[in-house]
Amino acid sequence: MAYHSSNPSDPDVYHESDSCPTGQQIPAKNRVEGKGVGNRPCQQCAA
Ligand SMILES: [Zn+2]
Repeated sequence: MAYHSSNPSDPDVYHESDSCPTGQQIPAKNRVEGKGVGNRPCQQCAA
């Protein structure tokens, strides 16, 4: 399940992995399911 941050100050990326260190830094209140609009895939999720 892809997810991204609703915080506009965060990078415009979405995450595919729940274990992504960057994705884990998103607070639960800012975490939104889906890829969002205009977001690119997170490089660390792909690694
Ligand atoms: Zn990620």
